[in-house]
Amino acid sequence: MNTVYIGLGANLYEPQAQLNKAVEALLNHPDIKDMTVSSFYASKPMGPQDQPDYVNAVAKFSTMLEPEPLLDQLQLIEQQQGRVRKEERWGPRTLDLDILLFNEAIIDSPRLTIPHYGLCDREFVVFPMLEIDSKLCLPNGTALSDIAANLPRNGLTTLPVTQNKET
Ligand code: ATP
Ligand code: MG
Ligand code: MG
Repeated sequence: MNTVYIGLGANLYEPQAQLNKAVEALLNHPDIKDMTVSSFYASKPMGPQDQPDYVNAVAKFSTMLEPEPLLDQLQLIEQQQGRVRKEERWGPRTLDLDILLFNEAIIDSPRLTIPHYGLCDREFVVFPMLEIDSKLCLPNGTALSDIAANLPRNGLTTLPVTQNKET
């Protein structure tokens, strides 16, 4: 079994509901087991500032899928929730699912960079990961808590728990 951390993010069309729906899709996925999800967090957008704030979370799970087939499954869920890929980098989106860590793997392929290249700079990833495992280390041995110690929260706040509303 592989142990994976993924980042979830959304800032369009009821982002909290988008994240709830994505969590449900992951929970129902036959190849994804033993999932733990962080709190949901409100965060400021990266890049273009003329877009709504984001809702972010991190999920940890076990899977037999290898990295690229896992990325395929995550991109399928993004598409099912109406993700439209645009030219603009870091523009608004209904759902973003990024692989943060895959076991202790270090991968640099045309489709995948793992650990995720932005992991250490993104407060909306580092703090939720620590919520799941406060002792988590990166493949190079660095403790994530040491990275967090020097990372501004940039307005990151925990959101209250909401029920998954059926609409
Ligand atoms: P960022 O990567 O800065 O968070 P983004 O998530 O908005 O930006 P996407 O449009 O979702 O970027 O993905 C662009 C490409 O990034 C994907 O097609 C995928 O092949 C590649 N990619 C590389 N490494 C990863 C990873 N660890 N997790 C998910 N996608 C990755
Ligand atoms: Mg991303
Ligand atoms: Mg992405």
